[in-house]
Amino acid sequence: MSLVRGNIRSLEPYSTARDEYKGSVGILMDANESPFGDGLNRYPSTGLRERLACELAEIKSVAPDRLFLGNGSDECIDLCYRVFCRPGIDNAVMISPSYGMYKVCAEINGIEARQVTLGEDFSLPVEDLQAASDPFSRLLFICSPNNPTGNSFPESGIRALLERFPGMVVLDEAYADFSARGSLKGLLEEYPNLIILQTVSKAWGMAGLRIGIAFADPQVIGLFNKVRYPYNIGTDTLSLALKLLPEARMENRVKEILKERERVREALSGFSSLKEVLSSDANFFLVRTDNPRALYDFLLGRGIIVRDRSSNPICGPALRITVGTAEENDRLIKAISEYDSI
Ligand code: PMP
Repeated sequence: MSLVRGNIRSLEPYSTARDEYKGSVGILMDANESPFGDGLNRYPSTGLRERLACELAEIKSVAPDRLFLGNGSDECIDLCYRVFCRPGIDNAVMISPSYGMYKVCAEINGIEARQVTLGEDFSLPVEDLQAASDPFSRLLFICSPNNPTGNSFPESGIRALLERFPGMVVLDEAYADFSARGSLKGLLEEYPNLIILQTVSKAWGMAGLRIGIAFADPQVIGLFNKVRYPYNIGTDTLSLALKLLPEARMENRVKEILKERERVREALSGFSSLKEVLSSDANFFLVRTDNPRALYDFLLGRGIIVRDRSSNPICGPALRITVGTAEENDRLIKAISEYDSI
């Protein structure tokens, strides 16, 4: 674990009296909580957190000691920096365009973000990523399927980087449930420098809960648990996740979203105002159009908000559209057909 910041390696983490005492007690006078209330007067219990971790470990077929629960995967991204990167010294390499928080978190943590542009065909620039790294490169962020391009990267390229990159490789699989290839969790045992991020915010339909998952070597999971805030996930969130996960009907919803994605892409492909409707492995896709701002504003006028991704390198003038319900998608198609006939 030579990649871990020295101060984190030697950190004595905050611990609560309840962490120290595992038995059951009836009178809680240790944490300066209010004695009045229906349960929310108490800090979240470690038991509840462990139950959710075990439930998710089973669903994901991963050993519980390889799983960390964060306040959204955004917290996991931030923890990668806080655990591995020395402010003002280390750097993080990342593909571009990709999810904006990799760079924002680098900047917040005083870490240089080295962005490496994807190939014109959105391919993984394995050689360029390697060339951008040096002995101070502690993190490499790859998002697959990638936001906003929507494509997945081949396992061979990711393996090549796992073997050659000098630091930790963070593979963000927020959208993997939508892709035919699925997750690369199977690589965890082979590569102790691999951290995989997933979330309940996308296919599981629980973005409001704020639960992200990191899978990694048990030592890395231990470090994340040492550095996170003591109560990073609230009692209601943990309880709701435990209640909702078994009833989430995730697979059916993913099937529906994939069917709708292809229906909408096909419908939009017929409009001359759209130069290109790109294929995707996720629950969104890009459309290229000459004047994305005009289409964006037009859709906004029809009560539909999409994302303008034109400022991203290589996307070209493009909007990113998230797949909605069948009715929402019909409204989108109708609005673009109106725009098309102006
Ligand atoms: N990773 C990617 C690639 C994302 O697109 C997003 C959010 N759009 C996140 C992570 C953040 O996920 P969470 O809601 O779990 O913080």
